[in-house]
Amino acid sequence: MIDSDEQKARKNARHKAAMEKQKRNVDAHIEAANIERGVAILLTGNGKGKSSSAFGMVMRALGYGHKIGVVQFIKGVQLSGEEIYLRDKGPEVDFYQMATGFTWDTQDRSGDIVAAEKTWAVAKPMLEDPSYDLVVLDEITYMLAYDYLPKDQILAAIKHRPRAQSVVLTGRGGGSELQACMDTVSEVKEIKHAFKAGIKARKGVDF
Ligand code: ATP
Ligand code: MG
Repeated sequence: MIDSDEQKARKNARHKAAMEKQKRNVDAHIEAANIERGVAILLTGNGKGKSSSAFGMVMRALGYGHKIGVVQFIKGVQLSGEEIYLRDKGPEVDFYQMATGFTWDTQDRSGDIVAAEKTWAVAKPMLEDPSYDLVVLDEITYMLAYDYLPKDQILAAIKHRPRAQSVVLTGRGGGSELQACMDTVSEVKEIKHAFKAGIKARKGVDF
């Protein structure tokens, strides 16, 4: 049914009032946010989009010429687009990847722990170095879930990082203690995933 002119005018007025209210809300929040510092972000949940979101922030930071550290804690076998693009990006990006495959491939706990510790030895100094604007710890939650790395050490390093530095962690789970020391926690929830319908993982989309 087509709205009469009167109905259209009423809808427009309602929309305008709602937008004005929203703007007042947003402006009040902008006004109230006056703390200038880096943020700790956890991207978790069972849906697709955690690492992609982290690499979206890498792209943003690159746009401003920021210095970035990327440390990937689990994927070593499957080559990814982000690895190809970032590995030799030059002085803006330091890229490091744990040199083992998925845990269910390696099935070697003590070997995994050695690799995790070696990888943490790369990440930790980044969290102490104020020249890094952004540090991405991709898939690090699994290191905590499997107890491969000491949680207290990781939490302390994140807490005591340079004030202007932002850090992004990805991976399912993560636990309440980790969440508590984050400024932003987002859960990506699977509604559906192409893989479950038999569609193969896609280059440039999934890896
Ligand atoms: P992406 O890297 O695509 O943002 P992600 O970081 O959220 O995914 P991971 O568990 O790290 O999720 O993903 C590892 C791989 O599995 C990626 O190729 C991703 O596309 C795929 N994947 C992510 N979520 C699902 C899911 N719910 N079902 C099937 N495959 C998934
Ligand atoms: Mg991921």
